[in-house]
Amino acid sequence: MALATTMLAATAATNPFFEYKNWKTPHGTYPFDEIHAEHFMPAFDEAMKRGLKEIDDIVNNPAIPTFANTIEAYESSGEMLSIVAGCFYNLTNAETNDTLQQIEMELSPKLSEYSSTIRLNEGLFKRIKTVYDQRDRLRLNKAQYKLLEDIYEGFANNGANLNEADKKTYRELTAKLSQLTLQFGQNVLKATNAWSMQLTDESLLAGLNSDTKIILRQNAEQKGLDGWVLNLKPTTYIPVMQDLDNRDIRRELYMASASKCVGGEYDNTGLIVEIVNTRLALAQLFGKETYAQKSLYKTMADTPENVYNLLNQLRDAYMPAALEEVKELEQYAREHGLYAQLQPWDWSYYSKKLKQEKYSISDDELKPYFELENVKKGVFGLAEHLYGLKFKENKKIQVYHPEVTAYEVYDEKGKFLAVYYADFHPREGKRGGAWMNDFQSQYIKNKKDHRPHIVNVMNFTRPVVSDNPSECKPALLTYDEVRTFLHEFGHGLHGMMTRCQYASQSGTNVPRDFVELPSQFNENFIDEKEFLDTFAKHYETGASMPQELIDKMHASQTYHAAYGCVRQLSFGYLDMAWHSLKEPFAVNESIGTTESVCRFSDEAMRQVQVMPTVYGTQMATSFTHIFSGGYAAGYYSYKWSELLDADAFSVFKEAQKKNGSIFDKKAAKLFRENILEKGGTEKSMDLYRKFRSGEPTINALLERDGIKAKVIK
Ligand SMILES: [Zn+2]
Repeated sequence: MALATTMLAATAATNPFFEYKNWKTPHGTYPFDEIHAEHFMPAFDEAMKRGLKEIDDIVNNPAIPTFANTIEAYESSGEMLSIVAGCFYNLTNAETNDTLQQIEMELSPKLSEYSSTIRLNEGLFKRIKTVYDQRDRLRLNKAQYKLLEDIYEGFANNGANLNEADKKTYRELTAKLSQLTLQFGQNVLKATNAWSMQLTDESLLAGLNSDTKIILRQNAEQKGLDGWVLNLKPTTYIPVMQDLDNRDIRRELYMASASKCVGGEYDNTGLIVEIVNTRLALAQLFGKETYAQKSLYKTMADTPENVYNLLNQLRDAYMPAALEEVKELEQYAREHGLYAQLQPWDWSYYSKKLKQEKYSISDDELKPYFELENVKKGVFGLAEHLYGLKFKENKKIQVYHPEVTAYEVYDEKGKFLAVYYADFHPREGKRGGAWMNDFQSQYIKNKKDHRPHIVNVMNFTRPVVSDNPSECKPALLTYDEVRTFLHEFGHGLHGMMTRCQYASQSGTNVPRDFVELPSQFNENFIDEKEFLDTFAKHYETGASMPQELIDKMHASQTYHAAYGCVRQLSFGYLDMAWHSLKEPFAVNESIGTTESVCRFSDEAMRQVQVMPTVYGTQMATSFTHIFSGGYAAGYYSYKWSELLDADAFSVFKEAQKKNGSIFDKKAAKLFRENILEKGGTEKSMDLYRKFRSGEPTINALLERDGIKAKVIK
């Protein structure tokens, strides 16, 4: 209630968003000191009002539709909304509170109403279509042509081109689908929460470390039980599967997890049938043969054939090595007391032990070399070595939390390039994980280049602060944290270095199977001594990281790479099989729905199966990525991006062989001009071919994973 009154009180005169064009802050950055929660709702309302007015102006323009008065006008509409939303949604992720969460809830139906009003505006689509129909006569440059195509197709794919009856069907199918996918996800969650197992005899916990035991004890306390409780949440499941000596309990835990939603109260098999059949109907409405065809359109992979081609190539390359890894682990398990066939519930357990024996390396050995201030110098320095960028902290740029640092970024000619905010440590109002986002996008309007405002948000280890100076410790990052920083910073560079005309094409506005290239590419540097030498100094002694440690770090990265790959492939095949149906999936009534779905799924994965299939278990029934997330016919993109980043990095490795340095200026220039600056102005594959002067291949990935050597042996 208090919220509503303060909202009314915030008038246009005092709401900083209403005057965003006149902000006197450096580079037009957000005046965070003046922005308060009560400003958001009135600002959103005003922004949507202005946005709809801009759309009306396009539709009611008496002049005949042109690229400028329709497509460009549509592209630049809703500017205020993107300013307000850019601020709001970054805060709801990085610095939220009850008030912001409340606003978020109230806002969500308003925003979907706003976007559907525009999407269903027939007058607007008519003008867009008029321009689209003359596209080949319009002398547009590549980016403009693609913008026109993307905008037109955005409307068409939402049913704008369908006749009235089909439009109705489209709305029914999408509504049904969102309900089915939601239910699928909820079933997985409920099934995960429903299972638990109480242990009261401590001797059964043998093998677990004290941290895990504490977690199990807390699980029990939450349920008001004595002893220790196992459940299916990752914080319990992963350490128990890795460390618990008792094989029967591991088996039981595995079975509970792997048979989730197969029949029973939370059965998902019926939903799978309904989901894939609804998706197929949707695809057919748009004249596609399969849902995969619809989903892959406009991605870098482009067609189901290309996806299968990737999966099959990787299968052929990795299967022999994966089978060898299984054989090796089986041998190891036998030597360590396993007198039965190696089963899925044995994998993590023996795998962890063998890894420790082969490459004993712990985070504690590495952390002293990864002091946050040094790592920052290293990561920013990487951008300087490769692209000549310079980062200068500017305290005049206001930030949304005192722990956030704002930088001005300058290019190699000393010209202002971007604002970069870095936010490193966990806080109560911050969600988990790490991400890059833009507060403001880059675009050029009236010849003025609006440079982007980018943020990297992480949840890294904090420094230890104490009154006793001997107890103080700077923030020492783990290996994974340094890798994460490089990853998110790679997205950051994609955002900062972009040079595009239109906001909807700039920065990371590229297809799902291309967007991870700059980020994963950047991770590769962590294995390079030349890069590590620039910053990885022991925080107490100042010594560089020893080569031996670098080698171990690298070797442990490729441990069980083939097994990991074929597992990913099995998910990729499963996803493609369900979304390549040309006719509705028909349940075999003599065996029933559950059995029909399980058989079909097992069959899809069989070609990359390296461990025994256990009856009663099933991946598909808890595969939320594809049945309740955004990855339908898209799971392959994880492997696709890996192939690309390894292939791209091989250009730098080759240059290093020739010139002795991994910071190769020529390769960096190619990467910058064809990938980092170009956003989504051209087809991703065309951009990549220009960078690479050819097609990407799987060779570099094989080499990085150490697969060739294994195959030859
Ligand atoms: Zn990423």
